[in-house]
Amino acid sequence: MGDQRGCGQGTKDCSREKISKTIFQKIIDRELPAEIVYEDEEIICIKDKFPQAKVHLLLITKKCIPSIHDLEESEYPLMVKILKMVKVLAKKFEIEDNYRIVINRGSGAGQTIFHLHVHLLAGGAHK
Ligand code: AMP
Repeated sequence: MGDQRGCGQGTKDCSREKISKTIFQKIIDRELPAEIVYEDEEIICIKDKFPQAKVHLLLITKKCIPSIHDLEESEYPLMVKILKMVKVLAKKFEIEDNYRIVINRGSGAGQTIFHLHVHLLAGGAHK
């Protein structure tokens, strides 16, 4: 059985073929194109398709956890990994002196894709 935390649009587990996938799951599964800047077995980092700043990256868990609030204690290491990768990518994109990270939780807070992701933004307008 898959995860039961409601990933995607009212679905149960976006990683299963029989139910709808999030946009990010489709990117992970190479069903949608994206500019991938980093990938390993647990996370993927892509350029945001509609950037709100000069550098706007999305660090996404491959496991489809709907939001930060749904993260279980056993999954905390994923966030540690993402934060470590923020540092690496900030250096790579030469933004290490000034950047923001944003995690939206819930549609009222601006979350549009219910698949855990962290925005990394720098330069120009900020989301
Ligand atoms: P949020 O609003 O926090 O859920 O963030 C979702 C982000 O995904 C937004 O900043 C969108 O611009 C971005 N986005 C939507 N579709 C795509 C896509 N196909 N490829 C890359 N980024 C996307």
